[in-house]
Amino acid sequence: MLIFETAQAMQAWCKQQKKAGQTIGLVPTMGYLHQGHLSLVQEARRQCDRVVVSIFVNPIQFGVGEDLDKYPRDLSGDCQLLEEAQTDAVFAPSARDMYPEAYATFVEMEGTITNRLCGASRPGHFRGVTTVVSKLFNICLPDQAFFGQKDAQQVLVIEKMVRELNFPLEIVRVPIKREADGLAMSSRNVYLSSEQRRQALVLSQALQQAGAIIGQGERDPAKIIAGMQTRIESAPEARIDYIEIYRAEDLADIKQIEGKVLIALAVKFGNTRLIDNLLVEV
Ligand code: AMP
Repeated sequence: MLIFETAQAMQAWCKQQKKAGQTIGLVPTMGYLHQGHLSLVQEARRQCDRVVVSIFVNPIQFGVGEDLDKYPRDLSGDCQLLEEAQTDAVFAPSARDMYPEAYATFVEMEGTITNRLCGASRPGHFRGVTTVVSKLFNICLPDQAFFGQKDAQQVLVIEKMVRELNFPLEIVRVPIKREADGLAMSSRNVYLSSEQRRQALVLSQALQQAGAIIGQGERDPAKIIAGMQTRIESAPEARIDYIEIYRAEDLADIKQIEGKVLIALAVKFGNTRLIDNLLVEV
């Protein structure tokens, strides 16, 4: 497995691969890998000749006071997992290499897709994401790029950006990987105390409960959200950032549950902010 630390070297290798007729699958990550990330790598392995995984804690997608400095990192552990998963190349650049001094070019999406949910709680977050992902696409030249449904809004934003900026590649969505008890896997789960980890189960339970009552015929988003709120507030340390329901395709408002909807939540336990979601189709 090759490891590249500069955009220039990574891009040169990807160009060579393309010239030799190999397809490239890219899996963008911030590292501290778990089985959720590895399910993306496996999907890329299945679909592409060459698998490139980027590991980059992107400073410009973190807001002031967020966890950039203490975001968990373990490059050698990550590389071991990626080698076992038959990754061909890892791209692990420095922040300086990605954003040299006086860097000034950003990609920004307007409108409801980036303004609601995490876009409302984390101003500037998606501008950081669209900028870094555009750079990664230009550096790694993927035919397909793999994103997790765990970050449901992120994948919507990336799909829209790819369409609107005509990036010549396909976005592949990979389902949420969960712990045996239902908690969505996340690099941030390591921040949780054992008590918070236990309480965090209310998130997947609240989503399941919402799915079940929709299955029983409930169509009023406000009632579904109220039920979820009660369930989540039963965990003493939970502080709700948002629980919202939108049309899945474009995060448009809905008056009642119909077609495909996204139920999304963000909840803090102490300083740890967790997100989870459920796609429901009626
Ligand atoms: P991150 O390292 O958190 O930026 O995540 C990198 C990629 O892995 C993103 O596309 C995430 O959506 C995806 N991912 C993270 N956690 C999971 C999970 N539990 N299941 C599926 N995909 C995930």
